[in-house]
Amino acid sequence: MNAAALLEALRAALGAGQVLHEGDLTAYELDWRKRWRGKALAVVRPGSTAEVAEVVRLCAAHGASIVPQGGNTGLVGGGVPDTSGTQVVLSLSRMNRVRAVDAANLTITVEAGCVLQALQQHAAEAGLLFPLSLAAEGSATIGGNLATNAGGTQVLRYGNARELCLGLEVVTAQGEVWHGLAGLRKDNTGYDLRDLFIGSEGTLGIITAATLKLYPRPAATVTALASCDSLAQCVALLGRAQARLGSGLTGFEVMGRFALDLVRQHFPQLPQALAPAPWTVLLEHADAEGEQQARLRFESLLEAALEAGVINDAVVAESLAQSATLWQLRESIPMAQSEEGLNVKHDIALAVSDIPAFCERTDAALQASFPGVRLVNFGHLGDGNLHYNVQAPAGTPPDAFLAQHEAAINHLVYDAVAAFGGSFSAEHGIGALKRDELAERKSAVALGLMRAIKQALDPQNRLNPGRVL
Ligand SMILES: Cc1cc2nc3c(=O)[nH]c(=O)nc-3n(C[C@H](O)[C@H](O)[C@H](O)COP(=O)(O)OP(=O)(O)OC[C@H]3O[C@@H](n4cnc5c(N)ncnc54)[C@H](O)[C@@H]3O)c2cc1C
Repeated sequence: MNAAALLEALRAALGAGQVLHEGDLTAYELDWRKRWRGKALAVVRPGSTAEVAEVVRLCAAHGASIVPQGGNTGLVGGGVPDTSGTQVVLSLSRMNRVRAVDAANLTITVEAGCVLQALQQHAAEAGLLFPLSLAAEGSATIGGNLATNAGGTQVLRYGNARELCLGLEVVTAQGEVWHGLAGLRKDNTGYDLRDLFIGSEGTLGIITAATLKLYPRPAATVTALASCDSLAQCVALLGRAQARLGSGLTGFEVMGRFALDLVRQHFPQLPQALAPAPWTVLLEHADAEGEQQARLRFESLLEAALEAGVINDAVVAESLAQSATLWQLRESIPMAQSEEGLNVKHDIALAVSDIPAFCERTDAALQASFPGVRLVNFGHLGDGNLHYNVQAPAGTPPDAFLAQHEAAINHLVYDAVAAFGGSFSAEHGIGALKRDELAERKSAVALGLMRAIKQALDPQNRLNPGRVL
């Protein structure tokens, strides 16, 4: 590859200011967890779909591979370059415009670099709701959300990013543009290309825009915390909440005691609404009728659960500000955990009914093999998705602990997940982190089909090579 010639061609296509080559590129080269630090040949920041296509064609002509990047909040090392110094990071950050809002069709069309929080805000300004929500929403982009098929806290009611997307615009590995921005809820015209690109983590095409579903805003949203003695009780509470609230149950998050202990320790300014308990559940209820109605339904659910001994205590937020504080407790867990030091993360999915037995057996197996490890267990129980993370024993340097035990811990946890018929990646994707896991644990048939798709769409392996497959 003639790097100087490629850089010159990229500067001619985008303008020198949008081709970053020298200086500090840490923001693009280091991932959020600070586990992967690569070296880019350049970071390019195209401002339009035509410019993205031109970058792809130029990189192909010069033999360079491309790493698409949104907000760089991914947790599996998929959005940063490798260490070769030959990859081009293609940042979508300048492509953040809203192209259209169609209130009657309940859709919004935005460019891929639109930050999720800004997208939620645009929907709110139109009096509507874009429900995708996750703790990194202030930086994560909709392109990254779709490329990873992000989940988050509202999946129970509205589904993953995939379920919220009606159409895509994609630049292919050949530098062509697929215009698939239909706002249709029904379209059975051949293979579903949209669903192929969603969740492909930048390995099949570059998402440049999307048409997304909007929803009416609920008249009221009420949040509560409840404490339970066991995960079995949390599951029982989920069943009661689903029966009582139906689709009005929009969030159901669990937090293990140690996860909240870390929040207390690292963010002491956050008020703790309930006394520490083995498990704390955060419930959210959205109601089309109004706040009073929502609150009454919620309170009767929690009172009945208290009477039945399913929960030990509960508090219903009195105001939007208090609701926000309760959510902050939940959303501060990843930060508190990273303050505590490197840890072994597992983003697993299981049948909800299997979760108590899975945790009981796997907790015990981990303690037997790695005495003193601390479990930061929390997540989207309503979706059967746990962030089952393992922190080094207190006083043990995390780096040394991970270097020695990470592989064995992963093995133990993923074997247990497999024994319960679960998934080793619920919502974060594969990236670099779980590529070997995918190769080891997916069936030969599934891997063969995936490789055939990659070969058909990107035969030169130019898009995010070494990620996923
Ligand atoms: C504190 C915190 C909390 C989080 N909580 C959640 C959660 O609850 N649920 C959840 O699902 N995730 C969560 N995440 C993970 C992360 O936020 C999501 O994966 C998010 O969707 C990534 O968006 P991004 O724009 O930052 O993508 P990046 O990190 O930039 O990229 C992620 C992947 O997508 C590819 N990509 C990015 N943009 C494009 C594009 N336009 N076209 C093609 N490929 C592209 C990249 O190459 C990479 O493989 C969390 C992360 C943090 C830091």
